[in-house]
Amino acid sequence: MEVTFWGVRGSYPTPAPETVRYGGNTSCVEVLADGGERLVVDAGTGLTRLGDHLMSRGQLAGTHHILLSHLHWDHIQGLPFFAPAYDSRARISIHAMPDTAKPLAKVLAGVARHEFFPAALDDFAAPFDFHEVLADETFTPQSFRVTAFRLNHPSGAMGYRIDADGTSCAYVCDTAPFTEVLHKKHFLHGLEPISEADGLELQEMRDGVVRAIRGCDTVIYDTHFTPEEYAKFPHYGHSTPDQALALCTGIGIRQLVLYHHAPNHNDAILDQMSGLYANLGRQVGLEVTTAREGMVLRIGGAAPARRVAS
Ligand SMILES: [Zn+2]
Ligand SMILES: [Zn+2]
Repeated sequence: MEVTFWGVRGSYPTPAPETVRYGGNTSCVEVLADGGERLVVDAGTGLTRLGDHLMSRGQLAGTHHILLSHLHWDHIQGLPFFAPAYDSRARISIHAMPDTAKPLAKVLAGVARHEFFPAALDDFAAPFDFHEVLADETFTPQSFRVTAFRLNHPSGAMGYRIDADGTSCAYVCDTAPFTEVLHKKHFLHGLEPISEADGLELQEMRDGVVRAIRGCDTVIYDTHFTPEEYAKFPHYGHSTPDQALALCTGIGIRQLVLYHHAPNHNDAILDQMSGLYANLGRQVGLEVTTAREGMVLRIGGAAPARRVAS
């Protein structure tokens, strides 16, 4: 199994000379099984590059399975620009957590509402279908085995463990740590004290994450904030590399990938974080890699990261 990072940024795209090495596109990861089957996780603006890549290889036809962590802009904005959506030989199959108020198909059709985009999702050449994913559910798109688990984020988010080819990786994005804040339906405007029941729910959620990712070869984790930034914004729904390290240590994980970089983290800042956490990881037996756009990781082996061909 191989993972390619097509977008590594959180919140919004940041194309600029000072972000060119780590990349400016928002969250999108491609998981490729050794037999050639493909799963896409998140549909941020990085998805447009994957679409172009598939077009250049004549691989637009067939069913494209996309797992969404949640429906915030930085995780869906590439969807109406995904090249296979314009090919009648293709089908786009979206897997995501249900919305509490509206059917998933209706919510996602919103990305191509006429006010925002010239064509409705129904007008695309490729049909879209939508599958609701529940926490702790396991499903099997193609030969992948996917297990979903709850994360701590405003309005919720779903993490995924993906097993194939006798190995596994996990995608844990977006999430706050499981301590100070329990995110519910809406964005919090500050730190609110948590009740005992909230504390228990957070502990349960953390236990669920640990249970799901235990023994994974590689874990891709939301490390949006530095500790100093987190201290200012604990209610934003994101984590730090320290929190990711603490959660991933001692549960049989080989590699932690720092991901969903904050828009203000330019190449110089990310170089610093990359060096610092690679060292801290070594001290606890974890290989820590900082995600870069175009990076390809071999899962289930210690092959060095390489750049994608195009
Ligand atoms: Zn995000
Ligand atoms: Zn989010």
